[in-house]
Amino acid sequence: MGLLEGKTALIFGLANKNSIAWGVAQAFHREGATVGISYAGEILKRRVEPLAESIGCDFVEECDVSKDEDIEAIAAKAAERFGKVDIIIHSIGFANRDELKGPFYNTSREGFHLAMDISVYSFVALARAFQPLMNPGGAMISMTYHGSVKVTPNYNVMGVAKAALESSTRYLAHDLGPQGVRVNAISAGPIRTLAAAGVSGFKAMYKAFEEMAPLHENVTIEDVGNAAVFLSSNLSARTTGEVFYVDAGYNIMGVPDTSKD
Ligand code: NAD
Repeated sequence: MGLLEGKTALIFGLANKNSIAWGVAQAFHREGATVGISYAGEILKRRVEPLAESIGCDFVEECDVSKDEDIEAIAAKAAERFGKVDIIIHSIGFANRDELKGPFYNTSREGFHLAMDISVYSFVALARAFQPLMNPGGAMISMTYHGSVKVTPNYNVMGVAKAALESSTRYLAHDLGPQGVRVNAISAGPIRTLAAAGVSGFKAMYKAFEEMAPLHENVTIEDVGNAAVFLSSNLSARTTGEVFYVDAGYNIMGVPDTSKD
């Protein structure tokens, strides 16, 4: 029997087969969950629909999380279709490319607001919309990156957004704890996705990561999917408000190991 048998999960942020959301969707399907998928914009529909179909998912809904009416609409559709929901995955982030290079002090006011709105506030808005639908024992998960606590050149406003996302995760864990719903963040190491391609110097950072991480391996969407299974299942029943690292140990290192050079 799968670890998520009998549970219904809604996954936000599927763009293509490289998306972290796809790693999560596949792992959830493998573990017996009923999966619903949300994507942003007509352009992605063509990519998302065949992926959804391949895991037997027929709840595939568009939702631009910058629009309150879209969030309300998808919550209403989910209520109509599933009644209650057990798992919400927020795998969404966005900042203008211009903000993801050069000095952080060049961040524009508009770019700051946009990154915070799409990458952080949307998690709060989704939590509010789905809170009445959540079954006790349910879980919400956001996707973060270590640039929230340590400076990652070029990551800039996304680092600040991830700090706010992690903090929002803790506040939401406090809010939803009394109804038996847990809220955690997964902090993944760099993965080659559409979102990551927007960060200047990502390729070099990806390579350096593998060299420095204790496990000397890059992280895959399958790794994140498996961690999401753990954090959504009863195996993590007493864990909430945490940032769970899936990063081959990178975050424990202070400096690169030069002893073998
Ligand atoms: P991705 O590009 O596949 O996913 C990002 C998703 O955000 C896309 O599906 C995109 O459509 C969606 N999105 C953007 N604006 C939206 C809006 N207005 N409404 C709804 N959705 C919107 O890239 P990914 O790397 O899988 O990113 C998923 C999450 O994982 C993000 O929060 C990202 O910051 C985080 N993350 C990524 C990495 C990495 O290295 N790839 C590492 C750690 C954390």
